Amino acid sequence: MHTISSKLPDVGTTIFTVMSKMAADYGAINLSQGFPNFPVNKELIAEYHKTIDANSHQYVPMAGSPALMQQVATKIKTHYNREIQTEKELLITAGATQAIFTALMALIHAGDEVVVLDPSYDCYDPAIRLCQAKPVHMNMNADFSVNWNKVADAINERTKLLIINNPHNPGGKVFDESDIIAIENLLEKHPQLMLLSDEVYEFIYFEKPHISVHSREKLRDRTLVVSSFGKTFHVTGWKIGYIVAPPHLMTEIKKVHQFNVFCVNSTAQITLSNYLAKTNLDELGGFYQQKRDLFRSLLKNSRFELLACEGSYFQVASYAEISNKNDVAFSEEMTQQHGVAVIPISVFNKDAHDDKLIRFCFAKDDETLIKAAEKLCKI
Ligand code: PMP
Ligand code: GLN
Repeated sequence: MHTISSKLPDVGTTIFTVMSKMAADYGAINLSQGFPNFPVNKELIAEYHKTIDANSHQYVPMAGSPALMQQVATKIKTHYNREIQTEKELLITAGATQAIFTALMALIHAGDEVVVLDPSYDCYDPAIRLCQAKPVHMNMNADFSVNWNKVADAINERTKLLIINNPHNPGGKVFDESDIIAIENLLEKHPQLMLLSDEVYEFIYFEKPHISVHSREKLRDRTLVVSSFGKTFHVTGWKIGYIVAPPHLMTEIKKVHQFNVFCVNSTAQITLSNYLAKTNLDELGGFYQQKRDLFRSLLKNSRFELLACEGSYFQVASYAEISNKNDVAFSEEMTQQHGVAVIPISVFNKDAHDDKLIRFCFAKDDETLIKAAEKLCKI
């Protein structure tokens, strides 16, 4: 029989696919994988129809539709007061996942080290390893804050990249200014170090503002910033996002992008270029804040202990009062016996440590949140 040696022998199917399938198999309310279940804006749909009817079905330029790139540049200027050179610093990608994968493939060499803060989104580690580089996982504190002194200790001359995710999935944490200053200090101290800032939830923050690294001039010459239209416009299935990087890094990223994607879906790009100008992204935080507050108030009398949620559309909860099971087993029990699918947090920890925490996605219509909460309050 033909055999091969796996490049990722320890990797299975992502938890998002596993839990969404389990939710479907058991007819559970799916608060696991992060995606909205409410209709997207009608104007966006109308724009898509217009694009489909127009002749927009062929390749757009490799780096992106010029009209969309211009709109993204305007958005970055409006929100972060950063002027980008669209031709040299911006690439439209097939979602944040492809942006991250492509950037790592382009910039990370065999033997390099990349620092990842756990719990970490699950696409970082395998991509680093496919570069034959070494992921160096550092645990966050219990409240998902970061001990930057510990991170500093993990950085050496082989460390080429630090990956951050702000607002944070799954933790719901938004960095303070002191976090950003700590990162600036790390980059200043280590001239070889680059920063990848995964900001897919950049517009989903609540009481305190999100500080994008776009707005930090000091960081720009070595920083990659990743965004996702999927999160911002409730269209996760469109798989479209973008990455901003300084010209010398973007040149390398485009070399890889042209051979693993070439250009991204033309109709989605043209639709978004026509839609972006009409949107007010400042409203997104308020929209999700209502959902967070509703969900939290509905669970007030449950036995779950809700952790702080400062941003993203995820609510982490401790079930320590309810069960001694590990979080994977408890998530299965929740889905199969209690009718609500959730994500166990330990799968985002390289050392798999289990703090009896689960993640709920509250990007759902109110009716779904109410029905889920009824079930959750009975546990
Ligand atoms: N990073 C984080 C932190 C995410 O939560 C996600 C999932 N949406 C992604 C990256 C991937 O985004 P996309 O669907 O645009 O590839
Ligand atoms: N980002 C989504 C989440 O955290 C999942 C995306 C995916 O399934 N790849 O749930």
